[in-house]
Order: sequence, then C-alpha cells, then structure tokens
Amino acid sequence: MERTLPAATGFLAAVHQDGGRAPAPVFASLGSCALEREERHGHTLHTGLLHTGAPEAARAYGPRCAVVFAGELYNQAELRSLLPPGAGPDGDAQLVRALFDIYDLHAFRLLNGRFAALVQGEGRVLLATDHAGSVPLYLTAAPGRVLAATEAKALRTAPTGRPLPAARPVRRLPGVHQVPAGTVLEVALGTGGCTAHRTWAPPLSRRILPEDEAVAAVRRALEHAVQVRMGPEAPLVVLSGGIDSSSVAALAAGRAAGPVDTVSMGTDEADEFPQARVVAAHLGTAHRELTIPTDDLLRRLPHTVWAAESLDPDIIEYLLPLTALYLRLGGTGRRILTGYGADIPLGGMHREDRLPALDTALAHDMETFDGLNEMSPVLSGIGGHWSTHPYWDREVLDVLVPLEAGLKRRYGQDKWVLRAAMGDVLPQETVLRPKLGVHEGSGTTSSFSRLLTAAGVPQGRVHHAKRLVVQELFDQVVVAGRHPDEVATEEVVQLAAGQLESRTQPIS
Ligand code: AMP
Ligand code: MG
Repeated sequence: MERTLPAATGFLAAVHQDGGRAPAPVFASLGSCALEREERHGHTLHTGLLHTGAPEAARAYGPRCAVVFAGELYNQAELRSLLPPGAGPDGDAQLVRALFDIYDLHAFRLLNGRFAALVQGEGRVLLATDHAGSVPLYLTAAPGRVLAATEAKALRTAPTGRPLPAARPVRRLPGVHQVPAGTVLEVALGTGGCTAHRTWAPPLSRRILPEDEAVAAVRRALEHAVQVRMGPEAPLVVLSGGIDSSSVAALAAGRAAGPVDTVSMGTDEADEFPQARVVAAHLGTAHRELTIPTDDLLRRLPHTVWAAESLDPDIIEYLLPLTALYLRLGGTGRRILTGYGADIPLGGMHREDRLPALDTALAHDMETFDGLNEMSPVLSGIGGHWSTHPYWDREVLDVLVPLEAGLKRRYGQDKWVLRAAMGDVLPQETVLRPKLGVHEGSGTTSSFSRLLTAAGVPQGRVHHAKRLVVQELFDQVVVAGRHPDEVATEEVVQLAAGQLESRTQPIS
C-alpha cells in the first residue's frame, strides 16, 4: 500500500570503528523512533529512524553498502529504468542502494527528491543532501567515528568532532557541521577526513526562449512536480491566495480524484482570507481558515527556532506564521504542498523593471539559499505532517532559474512567465495579484517588532534585538536542549532588551 508520508522523516546514525555508542535520538519532528544496530566491514552502524510505521523501507543493507534514507524521491520511475528489469526495489532506500552499487556516489547526481541520506561503505561514510539541501543534515566526525542527524540538536551531546573544512560549521554548536545543499560529503572513517562532491548547482547561464515555449515549459515542469508529490490521498495545500500557492492548488485540484483540502492562516491583526477564498471557490477545494491570535503566534517563536535551527531573525520571522499553522492543523500526518520558494528562481521580490538588478538579485539568492533551513520538513514535522515544495523540485528549478530575465519581469509584472502559465486555471484577479509575503500578510513582522519596542527597545535597534532574541532561543532549545513549551518568548525578549541596554550604557 502506498503511504501518505515518507517511510522516515529523520534519522540519527552513528558509525564507529570500535563499537562506540550513539547518543539518544532527540527530534523535534514527531514520529516513532526505531533503533537498530548493525555490524558490517568491522564497523558498527547505529541508527535511530524517525518513522511513520515502516522503518524497514527507510533502510537498505546490501553487500557493498548500507543506506539510511529520510524523505522521498520524485523520479523513481526514471531511476528504476537504470536497473536490470525485474530488479524492482520497493522503497527509496532500496532504490538508492541499488543505484549506489552501479554508480557509487555519483548515484546522487541522478536523484530528484527531498531527502537526506547516509551510506556506509567499506572504510567510508557518505552523507548526502538533495539538490536544495531541503532536508538539513548535520554531522560530527573524528578518526574512527562519524555521527550524523537530520536535526542538529540530536548531536549536541555527541563528543566534539574535528574541524571539517568541506562542511559548514554550525554556529554555537562546536564540532557540528552541516552538509551543504546538493552535496555528497565523503568521510574517510579511519582519519575523519572529508571531501565534498557537488551533485547539483544552480544554472548560471540564461536561456532564450519564445514566450509560448517558456510558458509551456514552466507549466509542464510545475504540473509534473505537483503530480509526483501528490501521494495516495488528496493533499492539503497551504494557500495564501497569491499566485504561487494558488497555482499549486490549481494543479493539485486538476490531478486529485476528490476535492483537495486548502487552509489559510491569519491573525487577529491581518489575513489574506478574502484572496484565498476566491481561489478556493474557483477550484472547489475543501477550504479552512485558521485565525491565530497574535499572542499565540508569538508564543511559537521558540518552536520555530527549535524546528528550523536557524539563527537568522528574518528567516525565523518568515517561518513563524506557517509553523504556528502547522501546529494548529491537528489531525494525523498530512501531506502538505506549499507555494514556497517561487520568488527565488523567478525574482518575485523584485518590484521594478530593471533587468540587470533582477538578475543580480536572483544570482545572489541562488547562491545564498543554502543553510537557511527555510525548506526544512521539521517545520511541519513538529505537527506530525510532511511538507513538500513543488517550486524547488530539481527539474522545475532547472527550467525556472535559467530563463532570461525578461521572461520573469515582463509587461510590468513580476513572475510573468508563471502568471502566463496559469491563466487558464485561476481567476484573473489571482493571476494579477501582487506579491505579499506571509510575514506581511499575517502581521508577524509588525507584531514581533511591537513586542520588542514594548520591552523598551528603541525603533532603530529592533532588528538587532530580534537577532539577540533568536540567538537566545537557539541557545535554549537547540544548544541546551530545552523543550520549547518550557521557554517563554516574553522572558527571552526581556533578556534581549536588557542585553541591548547594558551594551548601550555609557561606561563611566
Ligand atoms: P509567501 O511568503 O507568501 O511566499 O509564502 C510562502 C508559502 O507559504 C505560500 O506559497 C503558501 O503556500 C504559504 N502561505 C503563505 N501565506 C499563507 C497563509 N496566510 N495561509 C496559508 N498558507 C500561506
Ligand atoms: Mg504570500
């Protein structure tokens, strides 16, 4: 039977030369944890798999290697065509194992998915992220041992590893590193030395296409990305009523056997409910509106930092409303489609006509998305759900990023090519609706700022104070391992305001 959620949504794994021990697996994501110990090539592999009922589908052991896999693949059919007829491995982990036998680490260049994986081979451990690094993967390594986990907090009590120049150090967690996006990190078990192999990079060149061909290519790629993310039941689309999420809802509705579910969040201060309603009515979705009081929303700041494990205050502010929504959804394990990320390859935040500025912004955004954890499945995982983002499908990005800038900004519209591609399935007012970020549409930016000014932070220092708040939250829920329910946003805000004040006091 096909499952709604991936077999595993996270893991902690430890490979030791001397038997070793693995720290107790700790995850913010909900799920059952299956522990297993396996001896191979004279090493011990401990795994703690965060699973949804079928942990065996997320592990694969073969003579050459063992694979631990969290997440899912979107091009299984293509991948299977590379294997001998009848080989037919069931789960994604088995498929990766079979491909690894043929291609070794280059197997990861073939995958389109949302995943993090560990492969234990003879004398080496490989840690792999998908092209977008959309499932964060962390590690510590030292001679004779490699520990890896999909949440950094799971490694906070691990023995400190050695510096790894090929990976990104995680600030405030000494010895813990993050595997870059689209990378296989190859660790030599004997020395703990590591080499990074890049498996995907955003295209740097731009393609020239006639309007109609560009529009058709975008429609085709996005339709396919939505289709492969649908799962066995009608999915839930988090719908703002903007062009990005409305397009996803429209394509999902066109594919689903029954009505698709949509949900919109707002607060007592702001919402985009009327705009989302227009889309829901047009598509005939089963639509829900969730109003989250601003106080409750801000109380979820610790949970957002706990899930995203990011120190960037802008990212946390942006992720807060959706995290609060995911925690409110209720029900069991939903497959959630979002409109996240269309603005990055399409330059949607760009609000004027100059094309050089658009391409500059785009090149910058495509170079700097990694490590922000904006796409982390843990954000919905703390509510027991699984989110996936069609615009960051590998094939969609390979179509969108290289389009010549004039196809993205055209006739005075941002994201023109997407709007043109969706004109036949969405109301005209939705197709023409300008961009509104979720942190703006829900009033999150202003309510978080007000929390700080009310604590005495001067207007001009608000952004800096937000940084201090996020850092303190990170220290409490990630570094110190406190549960976010035990952390009061107001106290952390007071602390940050106090720190700011003591720093700005003249020294007498
Ligand atoms: P945005 O910041 O508007 O680009 O939001 C990113 C994605 O989050 C959208 O494409 C939607 O899938 C989702 N989203 C944004 N705002 C809302 C909202 N008010 N309610 C539900 N989902 C939303
Ligand atoms: Mg929006």
